[in-house]
Amino acid sequence: MESVQWLFNSFLIAMANHMPKIVITNQNPTIRQAIADVFETSIHRLCIWHIMRKLPNMVGCMLNGCEDFIECIKGCVWASNSPDEFEESWGEMLEEFDLADNEWLCHTYEIRELWVHAMKSQRHCEHKAENASLTSLLKLKMSYEIEKHVRNIYTHTNFYVFQRQLYIGRMYCHVQGTTNVEGDRTYQIKHNYESKTRIHYVVYNECTSECQCSCHIFDSDEIPCAHMLLVFTSNSLREILASYIINRWTKIAAKAPMYEFDNIMGDAYGEIAT
Ligand SMILES: [Zn+2]
Repeated sequence: MESVQWLFNSFLIAMANHMPKIVITNQNPTIRQAIADVFETSIHRLCIWHIMRKLPNMVGCMLNGCEDFIECIKGCVWASNSPDEFEESWGEMLEEFDLADNEWLCHTYEIRELWVHAMKSQRHCEHKAENASLTSLLKLKMSYEIEKHVRNIYTHTNFYVFQRQLYIGRMYCHVQGTTNVEGDRTYQIKHNYESKTRIHYVVYNECTSECQCSCHIFDSDEIPCAHMLLVFTSNSLREILASYIINRWTKIAAKAPMYEFDNIMGDAYGEIAT
């Protein structure tokens, strides 16, 4: 504990006593306590990647490696559009895979406030893991030029988020109809996900290059949603519109220096794993 506190205090001195706004760690209780003691005004959140990596070992051998289950929980964690939708999907996942009595999942759900809201910040903080983004290219899933364009500018993590939205847009969403009012074309989009159906409205203006969707995923995640991407690709856009590229998700931004405490975290999951 003392060595962790010493490290955090050294960081504070180096940063002229400016506390970080948010600190993301795994569930190591020593780190958690040191953050509370030293970074008094910082928000502490848990690392969703560590939680997801631990998942296969915590659900039993029947589900470990079950693609349907992995897809289901990933969809619940990464694709939910609102807290209500997340909670609904989580409940359905527990029921479908008979996991209501799984203590680890129950505890992970109880502390969801500590990790659900950290996902966006975390995308920005994955600097260490993003080094490969600067020199390598990921595999394309779809044959749209816009996917190639985004692959060239976004880091791997953010490209994956984009690619998933593009895939959902082209596979599970359909334009039901459009209306045009003074250049604003409104697309009514039917979104099928498992047994659910939702209707979203995308307003796209070709002249002003403005686009908005009623799901507001872009407002929170800053990656165009599946519905906007369906509209972009339906309009044969070869590149993502400049105003929908957020600089901090790009490879250029990933070159900027970041501060991290990964090297002292170790692999401590004990707090929620037992
Ligand atoms: Zn949308």
